[in-house]
Amino acid sequence: MGVWEDFFVKAKVAVDTLGEKAGQFVDVSKLNIKMAELKNDMKNEYETLGKAVYRAKKEQIEDDVTINYEIAQIDNLSLQIEELKKQIAAMKNKVLCQSCGQPNEIGSCYCAKCGEELSCKKASGTETKDDFEDFGE
Ligand SMILES: [Zn+2]
Repeated sequence: MGVWEDFFVKAKVAVDTLGEKAGQFVDVSKLNIKMAELKNDMKNEYETLGKAVYRAKKEQIEDDVTINYEIAQIDNLSLQIEELKKQIAAMKNKVLCQSCGQPNEIGSCYCAKCGEELSCKKASGTETKDDFEDFGE
């Protein structure tokens, strides 16, 4: 019991951090959208950092303020992405009740909380493909 309570507390904190409205139920698709946004932000920060470093070298100026700021931004985004990955992984192993939002074990036919029928036909749970790309390029 406590595990899920802990998870939701964490999820809520993380979502609040990301500027989402509290109280809204967190679902995987929403988290995936957030992930895409974070990854896009990350690319932009890298680009800004790259330009700052380029300009600093090219014009031989000290621009540690901008560079350090961008590095901090990137570190911050990395942490958010890692946290979000954990959340998405945890959510993927559960089936959410459409009626009350209760996470149920994959393969459950009825919601443990409100008894709503769940789509239990496909109890695969074998989708372990990691669809997050790294920024390796
Ligand atoms: Zn339910």
